Amino acid sequence: MKALVKTSEAPGVELKDVDIPTIGHKDVLIKVKATAICGSDIHVFHSSPGIMHMINLPVILGHEACGEVVEIGDYVTNIKKGDMISVEPHLFCGVCYYCQTGAQLNCKNLTLFGLQIDGAFAEYARVPENCCWKHSEGYSADLGAILEPLGVAVHGALVGGINGKSVAVFGCGPIGLFAIGAVAALGATRTFALEVVPKRLAMAHQLAPDAILINPKERDPVKTIMEATDGLGVDVAIELSGNVEAMKQALKVLKREGRISLVGGLLGPIELDIHKDLILKEARVLGIFGRVIWQTWWQVRDLLATGKFDPLPVITHRFPLADFAKAFELAESGEAGKILLYP
Ligand code: ZN
Repeated sequence: MKALVKTSEAPGVELKDVDIPTIGHKDVLIKVKATAICGSDIHVFHSSPGIMHMINLPVILGHEACGEVVEIGDYVTNIKKGDMISVEPHLFCGVCYYCQTGAQLNCKNLTLFGLQIDGAFAEYARVPENCCWKHSEGYSADLGAILEPLGVAVHGALVGGINGKSVAVFGCGPIGLFAIGAVAALGATRTFALEVVPKRLAMAHQLAPDAILINPKERDPVKTIMEATDGLGVDVAIELSGNVEAMKQALKVLKREGRISLVGGLLGPIELDIHKDLILKEARVLGIFGRVIWQTWWQVRDLLATGKFDPLPVITHRFPLADFAKAFELAESGEAGKILLYP
């Protein structure tokens, strides 16, 4: 089968012919129907130093995926051939302290699908049964491919509550756009969307027409938000840009006792005034690295069922897997929303 493989520490990836994966007793084999490019895939593409320690080489990339089950292992009980599933790419062991106390996301023996074991930028992929999220018949494969990043956005938003709160979302890349749509649908009183790329700000407006749009290149985000909130700041800041300046601004506009969710891939250390920005404010700082398994998947399902938020418009481009180079280049340009690849 064709697969997009990271073969070495050097920058780049290769489209290769590889064997179709064999599955174990508790695995399923999916025929991949749709996959999406994540920001982390771009870091891997370039062999960014902050991410290479998380990879086992060689590896087939791709962890945002939806596929049809075409083969099941002997001990698989809950999934059958023909089922459409999405992948929870944080493969958890189920027996460690964290798994046994309901925190599978922080499993001590966590394995990352598409980074540490072969992923879904391929025609077929092996997925453990306990990391499959099963869909109803006729479910959209495109929607199935974006549930994973949508879950990150929803977890980042809902981890401390949103309803009745003012929220500033820093960065309107795909996850930022998901967050803005979700936050508006979940009952935030006021939403600020911050982004330097005008196209993405326009998309934020489409998803949440009432959101206050701020392009930090055009106006000072701290001044704008503080003025709009009577000098109090926002209850919740969600940092998704991975930009150092944005993170500092997010802390500045945070209300006292406010909550900041740090979701953006900020690779490397940054300087912070912890006393002034966190302690004196009694700020709640939360790191976000995935979804609560499986609570967030249910929350996303319920959110979509309300009909108040349609995430599909966040998908702006679709490419065959063979055109990966073009797709990655576009993803990196910052001009696109979510980009899907089809093997
Ligand atoms: Zn575990």
